[in-house]
Amino acid sequence: MTQAIAAEVSGLLRGLGIAERHFIGGDLAVASPITGETIATVPQGAAADVTDVVARAQTAFTAWRRVPAPRRGELVRLLGEELRAHKDVLGRLVSLEVGKVVSEGLGEVQEMIDICDFAVGLSRQLYGLTIQSERPDHRLTEQWHPAGVVGIISAFNFPVAVWAWNAALALVCGDTIIWKPSEKAPLTALATHALLERALARFGAAPEGLAQVLMGGREVGGALVDDARVAIVSATGSTRMGRDVAQRVAARFGRSILELGGNNASIVTPSADLDLTLRAVAFGAMGTAGQRCTTLRRLMVHESVYDVLVPKLVRVYQTISVGSPIAGHALVGPLIDRASFEAMQDALAAAREAGGIVHGGERVDVNGDASFYARPALVEMPGQVGPVVDETFAPILYVMKYATLADAIALQNGVPQGLSSSIFATDLREVEQFLSAAGSDCGIANVNMGPSGAEIGGAFGGEKETGGGRESGSDAWRGYMRRQTNAINYGRSLPLAQGVTFDVG
Ligand code: NAD
Repeated sequence: MTQAIAAEVSGLLRGLGIAERHFIGGDLAVASPITGETIATVPQGAAADVTDVVARAQTAFTAWRRVPAPRRGELVRLLGEELRAHKDVLGRLVSLEVGKVVSEGLGEVQEMIDICDFAVGLSRQLYGLTIQSERPDHRLTEQWHPAGVVGIISAFNFPVAVWAWNAALALVCGDTIIWKPSEKAPLTALATHALLERALARFGAAPEGLAQVLMGGREVGGALVDDARVAIVSATGSTRMGRDVAQRVAARFGRSILELGGNNASIVTPSADLDLTLRAVAFGAMGTAGQRCTTLRRLMVHESVYDVLVPKLVRVYQTISVGSPIAGHALVGPLIDRASFEAMQDALAAAREAGGIVHGGERVDVNGDASFYARPALVEMPGQVGPVVDETFAPILYVMKYATLADAIALQNGVPQGLSSSIFATDLREVEQFLSAAGSDCGIANVNMGPSGAEIGGAFGGEKETGGGRESGSDAWRGYMRRQTNAINYGRSLPLAQGVTFDVG
């Protein structure tokens, strides 16, 4: 099985025209969570390489910023075409490298295609404002210029989609990009970069150094973070990483876009459609084996429906198929590694200690000792205590009872993270209360669906310890450009703002 995965990965990468020296013989061992065995060894960069990489990106920027934005959009259109043509290959690599079930691996690539389409249209819509001036024969405008070099640091769990959210926008905005992928997922980054290179070859005249990849861990990421020539650092990962990155980028007055951990909740009200709720909770909490930033981790259930919904949920947890993401029909694949499984077990032990009743959570033997599959855990908690306030990146759902919607919203908001949230209700008043300024404090608030599975059309991101960044749709593009305000005097006199006089005769 293991050798079969290594051989398949090697074949897929070679099929994309990637030379073996990029994934065999290096010092970064890549394990497939499907079996836990090494499937490639990738040469890493060193922190010292960052200086040259950034210099190339900076030189490329001086040319790319002058290419008209709709023309830049053409490159992203070509990238979208390459992704469409190679969706199966890249989706398969996502499954092999990070263990997503087949439809989720393909879904990740679809998300890349979607953001390319979005960015192509955007390349003709990088609008500024016209503003009324207080002075005669004056005009005020606001325009948006490319910002510079964008460093993209990505997490293992969306190894390629998050790059695409950033790259597609940054490229149409006139920025150059340097990608430091997760050290747990360098192969999908190699494949994605190969597809971009195909698009670049078809595009023709793009500057050398427009898009680069730096393999390595946090040291290499740190060198990118500290380099003052990197105008924007867009970093996705744990809150621990974001806290470090935010401070280092701020210390040099750079700009950061942070997409960090979530601890997402759903509220099930008395008016909820419980069949729909059951299905939504199952996908939200167990999909991607609980390894989405938007995974449902806390469920507040009204006391009047608790005894109807929760036993049914427990049954789903007991019967859901856990297994290889590429064989059979398992809905829950492996955890990324041993550390992840251990963190899950530690959280469950802490939950028991805090009075929780744990259903599931045990290890499931699928492919031997080196891989880590676990039955998702549902934990009935007496309150929001112990590990409930932390993000454990594994399939654990903490379920709590509530009496009033105000209590439920207070629980929902009572954690340090602020990424995604949802309510299940058919009562308009409860829905609107949840969506109001006094409702959910998260960047994403959904109705009658779980907190995960965002579309690219909306801005994606969250508040508090989730970092405050926004990526993907809506006007997130503004984060990749610099704003310039212009005051233009087309008259012959020089009236000063606020009526100030300064007459030098
Ligand atoms: P991680 O924080 O361990 O690593 C993420 C990336 O940051 C990796 O590329 C890593 O090499 C790099 N890194 C780590 N420390 C760094 C430092 N000090 N300086 C520079 N780079 C550094 O996260 P992970 O385990 O890969 O991913 C899981 C986490 O990511 C979860 O917390 C999840 O919620 C979060 N996540 C958030 C979003 C979002 O959009 N909010 C999306 C996906 C994942």
